Amino acid sequence: MQRMTQQRRVILETLRILRTHPTADEVYAVVRRRLPRISLGTVYRNLDELTRCGLIRKLDMGGAPARFDGDTAAHCHIRCLRCVRLDDVSVKSAKVHLQAVSHATGYQVFGYRLEFEGLCPECRTKEASNGTPGGKHGKSGQTKP
Ligand SMILES: [Zn+2]
Ligand SMILES: [Zn+2]
Repeated sequence: MQRMTQQRRVILETLRILRTHPTADEVYAVVRRRLPRISLGTVYRNLDELTRCGLIRKLDMGGAPARFDGDTAAHCHIRCLRCVRLDDVSVKSAKVHLQAVSHATGYQVFGYRLEFEGLCPECRTKEASNGTPGGKHGKSGQTKP
């Protein structure tokens, strides 16, 4: 077991408390409140190290800055297509059968990465209040096809 510096411990704690899957910059902004003298480079370095040790997960966001997850248990993510929000999805509701994938492809399967896409509750509310009037037909009583 590697010795953990105070900086690394604070970064790890911060990630476990934040459930928002922050970027390195966002981690830095929060950690700096507790450790005013920490540098952004140190945060990056520690995040890489924690990822290598398997204590956190680094989420590849395609072209966007990578985000970090303090929860290393198996779970999936759902991403809002409108804003930067990324939430957890419990694996039970999105069960993938690795055995079936292995049968279908001939691969030895070690795991999977599954990401859902959609519109988060906040963006849905915004969408409903400005923009498209009558987006929801729920109460009008004239919605029968
Ligand atoms: Zn959103
Ligand atoms: Zn997560």
